[in-house]
Amino acid sequence: MPIVTSTELFKKAYDGGYAIGAFNINNMEIVQAITEAAAELKSPVILQASQGARKYANSVYLVKLVEAAAELHPELPIVLHLDHGADFATCKDCVDNGFTSVMIDYSSHDFEANVEESRKVAEYAHERGAVVEAELGTLAGIEDAVSVDADKAMFTDPDQVEEFVNRTGVDSLAIAIGTSHGAYKFKPGTDPKLRLDILAEVSRRLPGFPIVLHGSSSVPQEYVRIINENGGALKDAIGIPEDQLREAAKGAVCKINIDSDLRLGLTAGVRQHFAEHPDHFDPRQYLTDGRKNVKDIVAHKITAVLGSDNKI
Ligand SMILES: [Zn+2]
Repeated sequence: MPIVTSTELFKKAYDGGYAIGAFNINNMEIVQAITEAAAELKSPVILQASQGARKYANSVYLVKLVEAAAELHPELPIVLHLDHGADFATCKDCVDNGFTSVMIDYSSHDFEANVEESRKVAEYAHERGAVVEAELGTLAGIEDAVSVDADKAMFTDPDQVEEFVNRTGVDSLAIAIGTSHGAYKFKPGTDPKLRLDILAEVSRRLPGFPIVLHGSSSVPQEYVRIINENGGALKDAIGIPEDQLREAAKGAVCKINIDSDLRLGLTAGVRQHFAEHPDHFDPRQYLTDGRKNVKDIVAHKITAVLGSDNKI
């Protein structure tokens, strides 16, 4: 299947009470792991590249890797999405080079600037058959160059969402309801709670409109343990409880972003491999184990969190 936009996928997800996983890609093994899990479970999938990923791998490699996955899995609907586009120029570059979906993240600017930049991106993308995600509110945490202190994070104000969507014409909206970027989200012993009341109010104001959650890794403790038992030194942290994400996916949330969990899985696989086989130096050997963990995690998310299996 050619790479598609998320329009139809979100419509079905909204009506069906599930969400589509948006998984971050940086290299071939990650693209393979995500798409193999999605194809086996008959789940549509969003592959997203951040600016950091484009810088690391070169955007051309990422686009071609996703095209290869689409060719190898002709039945699988795949969206190629830009995660956290910083400005119009970055979004334009991606639309011009094969991305079917872009995020313009002007959420750290004031409301009017956010409206203006998001509107400009939406106009450009729509003329070329691509779709646009924008963000209102600010998440805590670190993603590539974007770092926001917890005290600067702000929940989305439901009073702003109708005006924002109407004036910009964007196709989906990322909101801040307590999720957080990165692997160090919350201290152990705390009880992270998503503000599902804000989500409910946003969806009441925007009936039928797809909502996006960023920073939705759950930081599986099993992989943190494997990493630390095999030479790693990760600090203790917990992520977003999966049952709360499942609840959000049943409503207006149509896209859930997951990155850190895949990184943890890949790293755990590689570290465990080296601990067990200190004499190995063939990347195919240790990356096979890392890739297997990523595939297992994606499969788990699809069935237990997103509910997007058997939807193709
Ligand atoms: Zn994000």
